[in-house]
Amino acid sequence: MCPAVLYRRPPGEGLTEFISAFRKAAALDPLGAVLIVPTSRLADDIAHRLTSEGTPIVGDAVTTLAGFARRIFEDDAGDGSAITGAQSRIIIADILAARARDLPLLVRGGMPGSGVVNELATLFEILITRKVDYPAALGDLQSAKSAEIGLVFDTYLRFLDEHALVDENTLLARQLAGRSRIGPVFIYGLYEPVPLERDLILAIRERAPEFHYVIPWTENTAVFTDDGSWIRPDVVDDGGKPPAAEIQGAIRITARGDRVDEVRAVAQEIRDLVAGGVPPCDIAVAFPDLPEAMVYVEEVFPDFGIPYASSRGTALIRSPHVRALLLIIAAPAHGYRREDIVALLNSPYINDGRFPAGAIVDVLSREARITGGRDSWDRGFAALAGRLEAEIALSETPEGARRSHKGTLAALAGVREGLEVLFSDLLPLEGAETVAGHIAAYRSLLDRWGCPVMPDSGGPDLLLREARDRAAFFRALDTLEETARILPERVVTPAGFLSLLSLIVAGTGSGGRRTRNAVQVIGVREAAHLTIPHLFIAGLVEGAMPRLTTRLPLSTDLETWRLGTRSRADILREERYHFTAALLAARERLCLSFPVMDGEAPTTRSGFIDEVGDAAALETPGAESFGASRLLAAAEAGALIASGRFDEAAAIIPPPAVREAALRLNIENYHRRGPCNSPYDGVLSYDPSAVAALTRRFGDGAVYSPTMLETYADCPFRFYLGGVLTLEPLASPDPDLTARERGSLIHRIAHRFYSGWTQDGHGPLTAENHPEALRWILKIGREEVEYVGLRSAAWTVEKEFLLGSPLAGPGLLERFIENELRLATSPLAPWAFEFSFGLSGEDAALIRLHEGSEETILLRGRIDRIDVAPDGVFMITDYKTGRTHRGLADVIAGKALQLPLYIRAVETLTGLTGAAGAYYTLRRDEIQIRPVFWDARRKAHFAVYPATSKSGVEDIHALIDASLARVRDYLRGIQGGRFHPRQDTGPCPAYCGFMTVCRFDALREEGEDGSH
Ligand code: SF4
Repeated sequence: MCPAVLYRRPPGEGLTEFISAFRKAAALDPLGAVLIVPTSRLADDIAHRLTSEGTPIVGDAVTTLAGFARRIFEDDAGDGSAITGAQSRIIIADILAARARDLPLLVRGGMPGSGVVNELATLFEILITRKVDYPAALGDLQSAKSAEIGLVFDTYLRFLDEHALVDENTLLARQLAGRSRIGPVFIYGLYEPVPLERDLILAIRERAPEFHYVIPWTENTAVFTDDGSWIRPDVVDDGGKPPAAEIQGAIRITARGDRVDEVRAVAQEIRDLVAGGVPPCDIAVAFPDLPEAMVYVEEVFPDFGIPYASSRGTALIRSPHVRALLLIIAAPAHGYRREDIVALLNSPYINDGRFPAGAIVDVLSREARITGGRDSWDRGFAALAGRLEAEIALSETPEGARRSHKGTLAALAGVREGLEVLFSDLLPLEGAETVAGHIAAYRSLLDRWGCPVMPDSGGPDLLLREARDRAAFFRALDTLEETARILPERVVTPAGFLSLLSLIVAGTGSGGRRTRNAVQVIGVREAAHLTIPHLFIAGLVEGAMPRLTTRLPLSTDLETWRLGTRSRADILREERYHFTAALLAARERLCLSFPVMDGEAPTTRSGFIDEVGDAAALETPGAESFGASRLLAAAEAGALIASGRFDEAAAIIPPPAVREAALRLNIENYHRRGPCNSPYDGVLSYDPSAVAALTRRFGDGAVYSPTMLETYADCPFRFYLGGVLTLEPLASPDPDLTARERGSLIHRIAHRFYSGWTQDGHGPLTAENHPEALRWILKIGREEVEYVGLRSAAWTVEKEFLLGSPLAGPGLLERFIENELRLATSPLAPWAFEFSFGLSGEDAALIRLHEGSEETILLRGRIDRIDVAPDGVFMITDYKTGRTHRGLADVIAGKALQLPLYIRAVETLTGLTGAAGAYYTLRRDEIQIRPVFWDARRKAHFAVYPATSKSGVEDIHALIDASLARVRDYLRGIQGGRFHPRQDTGPCPAYCGFMTVCRFDALREEGEDGSH
């Protein structure tokens, strides 16, 4: 055994001399000499330094302890292999799936979740590297949970043994076999190695012909407690008394507004440094939580035009490219859900035109109420086609609607054909298979589709990233395939396969760019012992630095304490070391910063910042200028344009962009403020050509329905979007009956009942014919519900409430007949149902808008029911299945027009006299006909109705004339192009389908002084 020399040095000290000593040893023993350092970044830096100085480096002569262990293992292992962390997770997931019955606490529903797999992997790493005898070490704290964990742990270790595998942790436990030749060993800067690492280091010390060990050390016991005596050194060189560690160069500490602000401030400083001649490679930015910080870095650094390189790369699972590739498996695995199929077809990485466009499939599947399920797609589309064909065949369907339905049918045929091909292509991915079988089917499909489709345009950075993501994804697939070969052959469901592939992808980065001439973005722990001229350490808040998480995964505090791994004090000491070591890496400039807010929550700055002491004064956030940001420059130019400083704005962005921005700002800041009077509010009155076109379209000859006029009365803008621009809100894919469909169903049943009943020669309902009437309506009800074609549980319940059942009691139809029987004593008797005019070739009703005036309107409509009394007066009734109905106040206000307009239309067409307008509520909890207004002079006609005296009207005709006067105003508004958003303050009606595109602001007309 050679003499072992222990050097005690402050972090980063003596590295240059140590590298020189290694260089000399490597010159004598190039294949055996090794330099071991704590991080692969430092190893990479040293190797680069040596080769650029002309020292040839053989293989991984400069490496980490794990890298060295791997090298020794590969030299000695024979048939054994080393596996990656991702492969470990796959093996753990496989054990959980195979032993699911024995693991009820860890595996729910037979499928292990990725969370528990990751937690087990982390726990196993700690148990192995700290040599914990689990679960025995828990003593009397052992439980059913620890027994399950112990079972998985044992099975996992046995699996590795039986297959001659080592993972990243058990690798360290391999004894150095006699065959491996070890040259001079130089170890620098390892901080408090864990027990398994110590064992390996001692084994190396036994075998190495030369052994030099530099331990980071100063007299500060708050940071350094490991003095290296466990190495049993023959010689100790502490350089005299190790000096206190000193931070070099200027230090600044700055508080920033929030995380984005902080990264922007760093980016601006970097731009200033680079502009001042500092090469980007002399700058590094370190974060305690690098993965989280990368989200901000990736947004901000490209905006500031900063070339950067990160060892981590982007999480592969966030790549749109990779998400699209996973969707191919997710579609069959999740049962062809609507959202998966639409996303798949919308993805440019998948659908290059071979399948129908996602947008059209989205619209049509909403209309067909498809939510998922392979078969339900074609069944739903067939039902939709059937409905459209039936509507086309109906004589009363307007010609415009008929044309539109034909267009939809043509699109539907194309979509059905395309989806048939898609589903048949995806068929091989269905069903249980071995992992290898799933991968083969998946690869074959990707080949056939030429997937992923790579974009042929885009910025070079984007194209590079896409290519990197693609390569990383296929590497992950290869890894899964390799791992599957060593796993017992077992069939897994498509969902299980998706879960395994997602597990491996989730633990994979897209691969960092080791571009040297770029700003390095690193984790704080990577900074130790590096030499960085300009170092920024950002994100220094409590919880991130120090991160004092002591509890082990899947363990309570008490269990963690009993396992004796690391105490809070140990973690605090280690965190303090990494912070200190990072500070010592800086040479000319050290900038520490922290965000004051994290979203809405205030943060607490890291206590370590205060320990830097008086070396630097805290700078508080001030007004920042981020001149290097293209986005913020655009925002600044916008502010200048808004205040009329066009020339100054033109110095920032090009003049055409200034013009465009000014136009847009004017829309927002001028036209969309105060009273609604611009074209951007739908007010077209100032455009003569628009007014002329509207007059042609909505003037003489135009036929209106009361619903159109009510829409205009409530919100002219909604009328504009739907009635003028003919936009249609996206249908909801709700699998249950919509309010509109419920209404149509009830209308159809009531109409079929009465028309059939009277045609069959029946008179009014009586106690005698009541049982037959009930049989009649229930038969119609059963036939009608069959046409609905829904399969949801809610629809099953709704059917019971409609038709009745022993459980639900008498249904809505039965109670309707009973109510009709009660009303049969009224002089008003059913006379007509679905009375239509102005539809499909019928003459519209020509209504005079004002007595003595020539102004008229052509009306169309379908009246649910008309009851007529022997004296020739009638009542209009509209069936309602919703909760809210209009009242007399709405009629007087001109908002509810249907009943008065229908009464006037029937009077005009039949010569009868209108006496009332009523709503017939047909709901599960209410069956009742209630006049909204009625002729107070004819009380006897309404004795059986629950009509209140408040709804009695002395002069019905005057009420209708007042409604027509409103209609005249509305017509002028429509023809005159006045389509402003609704004027009511308060919320818009929930049923408005344009809410997502309309920027209605109830307070917009409020002046600066609060006036309207
Ligand atoms: S959201 Fe309101 S203002 Fe906009 S269209 Fe609908 S009802 Fe009119």
